[in-house]
Amino acid sequence: MQPEDSILKIRGIGEKSEAYFHRLNIFTVEDLLRHFPRDYERFELPRQVSELAEAEVCSVECAVATSPKLLAKQKKLLFCQAKDASGTVWLKWFNQPYLLSRLHMGDHYVFRGKVSFEREKPVMIQPEIYEKEAYRPLLKTLKPVYRITEGLTQNSVGKAMRFALAETEVTDWLPAGIRKKYELMRLKDAYKNIHFPEKEAVTKTAIRRLAFDEFFQLLLSMRMCRALCEQKTNCFPMYTAALCEKLARALPYELTAAQKKAWDEILSDLRSEAPMQRLLEGDVGSGKTVVAMLALLCCAENGYQGCLMAPTEVLAIQHFEEFKKMLGPFGISIGLLVGSQSAAVKKVTRSRAQQGRLQILIGTHALLQESVAFAHLGLVVIDEQHRFGVKQRELLLSKADAPHLLLMSATPIPRTLAMMLYGDMALSVLDEMPRNRKAVKTCVVDVSFRPKAYHFLEQQVRLGRQCYVICPMVTESENVEAENVQAYAKRLQRELPGNVRIACLHGKLPAKQKNECMELFAKGKIDVLVSTTVVEVGINVPNATVIMIENAERFGLAGLHQLRGRVGRAQEQSYCILVQGKAGDDSKKRLEVLLHSQDGFRIAEEDLAMRGPGDFFGIRQSGDFPFLIADLFRDAQVLSQAKEALASMTQEEARRLFGRLFPEKEPSVVY
Ligand code: ADP
Ligand code: MG
Repeated sequence: MQPEDSILKIRGIGEKSEAYFHRLNIFTVEDLLRHFPRDYERFELPRQVSELAEAEVCSVECAVATSPKLLAKQKKLLFCQAKDASGTVWLKWFNQPYLLSRLHMGDHYVFRGKVSFEREKPVMIQPEIYEKEAYRPLLKTLKPVYRITEGLTQNSVGKAMRFALAETEVTDWLPAGIRKKYELMRLKDAYKNIHFPEKEAVTKTAIRRLAFDEFFQLLLSMRMCRALCEQKTNCFPMYTAALCEKLARALPYELTAAQKKAWDEILSDLRSEAPMQRLLEGDVGSGKTVVAMLALLCCAENGYQGCLMAPTEVLAIQHFEEFKKMLGPFGISIGLLVGSQSAAVKKVTRSRAQQGRLQILIGTHALLQESVAFAHLGLVVIDEQHRFGVKQRELLLSKADAPHLLLMSATPIPRTLAMMLYGDMALSVLDEMPRNRKAVKTCVVDVSFRPKAYHFLEQQVRLGRQCYVICPMVTESENVEAENVQAYAKRLQRELPGNVRIACLHGKLPAKQKNECMELFAKGKIDVLVSTTVVEVGINVPNATVIMIENAERFGLAGLHQLRGRVGRAQEQSYCILVQGKAGDDSKKRLEVLLHSQDGFRIAEEDLAMRGPGDFFGIRQSGDFPFLIADLFRDAQVLSQAKEALASMTQEEARRLFGRLFPEKEPSVVY
C-alpha cells in the first residue's frame, strides 16, 4: 500500500467503518499512521472492586453476576453487574450489542476501564474484556490510547494500525544527512515505535523524531511563505491613520505599552512594500481585539474593505457588537455573517460586501463560502487562528489578491520560544496585561468545600455577577458528558435559591442551541453557566467573576489558566475555585502553582517541569499549537536543532524539499 491510498484498502475497514474514521479526519493510510496515541496506559494487576477509584482506569477480575441487558432507547446501552469477593461493579457499554451473546452469567474475566461512581456505586464505562490468561502477559506494558469516536474502539483502531504499518511503504522525506547528523530514527521505525511501544526509551526516540518533523516542516513552510510574500507588492498601502488616532483617544482606557507597540508594528507593515503577514500573540485578556479593531479601522479609512473571522458565533457576534459600538460613531459600515442567520439576511450582507458597501465584515466559517466576495478586500484578520485549518485560512485569503493578513492567538509561550518558533515571521507579542486588572483570587479545595462554594456563588449572583461552573470530563463519550452536566445543573438548582438562573452547555447540544445559550449568558440573562470546556474559546463576559472548576486535577495547568482567564476581565475582584475530585498530594502541589502565578507563560513552564519522566505527551495546550506530538517546552532543544538543520539548506534545496513534501501547494499562510 502507498501512504496516499484510501483506508478502504486496509483489511477490516469497510464502507461503514470508513465513515467512522472519516469523522476523525482519517481518509488515507498516512492519515491513519499519523493518528498518534494521545496517551499511553500501563496495564496493572487487577484490583479488588472495593479499591476502585473515581476517574481512574482500573482492572478488576470479576465474575459476570447478572445477565447482560440491552436498553434499546438509550443509544443501545448494554449493562450488567460483575462481582468479586469485595463487592459489585456495574459495567456499561454503548453500541456493542454483540456482547449480549459473549457475556454469560458466571464467566470470569478481567474488565478494564475508567471508573466513575453513580449513586455511590462503582461503574465502568466501555470496559475492555480480557480472558484471564490473555491479561497476564500485558502486565507492565504500555498501551496506546487513541482519540476515537462512536463506532470505533481502541481495538479496532489498533488492528487497522497494525495492518497499515505492515503493508505500507513509508518513504523517509528527511534528507539522510540531516537524519544522521541529529541522530534521528527512520520515519517508519518511528511510526512503529509510537503505535506499538516495546521499550520506553525507544518510544521516546520515536517521539523525538516525529517532533523534529513537525518543527522542521513548520519552519520550512514559514521560510517558503516569507520568501513568497516578500516578492509580492503591497496593493493596499495605508497612508492615513487619522481615525485610528481618534479611536485610540476615544477608548475608555489607555492602550498598554505592548498594545501600542503592536499597533505601531502593524501600521508600519501596512505601509511597507510587501503585504503584511503578522502574528499577534497575547495571553487571554491581554487585549488583542482592540489592536485588530485599529487595523480594520485603518483599512476602512484608506478606502479598502477588511474582514474578521472568529471560530464561534458567539465570539463573532460579540466582536460585531463591540465594533459597532466603537466604530459606529466614525460612520464605518459593519456587517455580520454567521451560519444561524436567515438566508435572506445573509444574502443582503453578501451583496453589500460584494458591492463594496460594507467596510468591515465580521463572521465565522460562514465567510469562507464561495458566495462570499468582496469588492476590494485589503485586510484579513483571523481571531483564535489555531482553531482554523491552514486550508480555511488560505480560502479566506484567496478572496482578494494578496491582502494583508493579521493572525491572532492566545498561546501561552514565553517570548524567547515564540521568537525561536516564529522568528522568521513578523511577530507582535502582548506581554503585558491592562492595568485595571486584579489578579484572580484562586483556591484549591476538596469536594467537602462544595456547600461553601455554592453559597459563595449565590452571594456573587446576588451582587449581580455571573459564574461559570466547569464540569468534570468523566469519559470520552459525549453522551455521558452531557448527562453529567445536566445532572450537575439539576443538583445545583436544588442547592441554590429558585430565582438563580442556571443553564447548561455541552458539546452534545446542537450548534444553534449552544450559541443561544452563550449569548444569553453574555447578555446577563443567565446567572450560572454549568458547562464542559466549551467555554474555553475566547468568550468575553466581563461581568463573570467566579469560575468553579470540578475535577481540576484532570486538567493541565495551562488549560486551567485559560479557563481562569474567563473571569477577571474587568475591575471587579474575581475568583477561581479549583475543586479536587480526588485528593492526592501530587495533584494538589501541581494545582497550587496557579495560586501564586497569573502568568500563562510561567505556568506552562512549571507545568512541564513537574511532569515525571513517564510523561510521553507533554503539555496538552488545548490545541493552541499546530503540533500533534511536539511540545515546545519539552522539545525546545529539538526545535533549535530543526532550526539549525533548515538554516544549513540553501534556498534552492529548501524549495525543492518543500515541493516534494507538499506537491500541490503554494506556501501561503502557515504559522
Ligand atoms: P483577548 O486578548 O483575550 O482577545 P480582549 O481583546 O477580549 O482580550 O480584551 C479583554 C477585555 O479587556 C475587553 O473587555 C477589553 O475591552 C479590555 N481591554 C483591552 N485593552 C485594554 C486596556 N489597555 N486597558 C483596559 N482594558 C482593556
Ligand atoms: Mg480574543
